Amino acid sequence: MLLGEPQPTQADLHFRLFGFPVRVHPFFWVVAVVLGLRMPDARTLVTWIVAVFVGVLVHELGHAVVMRWNGFHPHITLYSLGGLASYGSGAYGAASLGPWRQIGISLAGPGAGFLLAAVVCMGLVASGTGVHVSWGLPIGLNLSPADIVGGILLTIFIDLILFVTVAYGILNLMPIYPLDGGQVARELFLMAMPREGIRHSLILSMIAAGAVALLGIMQGSFLLGIMFGFLAFSSYNALQRYLGRGPW
Ligand SMILES: [Zn+2]
Repeated sequence: MLLGEPQPTQADLHFRLFGFPVRVHPFFWVVAVVLGLRMPDARTLVTWIVAVFVGVLVHELGHAVVMRWNGFHPHITLYSLGGLASYGSGAYGAASLGPWRQIGISLAGPGAGFLLAAVVCMGLVASGTGVHVSWGLPIGLNLSPADIVGGILLTIFIDLILFVTVAYGILNLMPIYPLDGGQVARELFLMAMPREGIRHSLILSMIAAGAVALLGIMQGSFLLGIMFGFLAFSSYNALQRYLGRGPW
């Protein structure tokens, strides 16, 4: 969901998963800790970090798998507020992909998270455990408060992984640049109106990001407010640049 790949650092973690090179930038852990500071104790915080790691990795794997189906050799980077699946080398440039293939790649990230959540939910429901939707921003799924699955740590992990996969997927589906939903909106607008598509998708992005920022602040989530306020501002800047009005 982020703009570009960060510079390599000595503290990067490297591994391969299903043949995809994965790099974890140290800032990924820093942001995960900051987001988890409200966790009640150290072991819940560690469980939260693992859940964020798994949730974001599954999301990026979704993008990477569909990129590979389209002939690319992608790699994955996890950093700051999320991750990035980069096309890498391929038979053709990413620009040569048609709009529907690009939309498929964009939807595959949230789709992979939802699929994982669905499999976990089916397992829980089959074993008689309740799952409920936590409304608010972001919307997520949680275990029913009274249910314990296996041990307490496993329960916390399942609860957090359900929340992370669904909430991260839904936030990424917002029609906001450079999130997955923003890419989908741009392709759809361009198909519907080739001349005006970019302009309309940037206006929609600005309004949607502003609305999420406002809702975030109204419910006390200043992080969402700052993040989406920034995205609204970058969409505004991009729009001005696109219309040739700015010095940027
Ligand atoms: Zn994504």
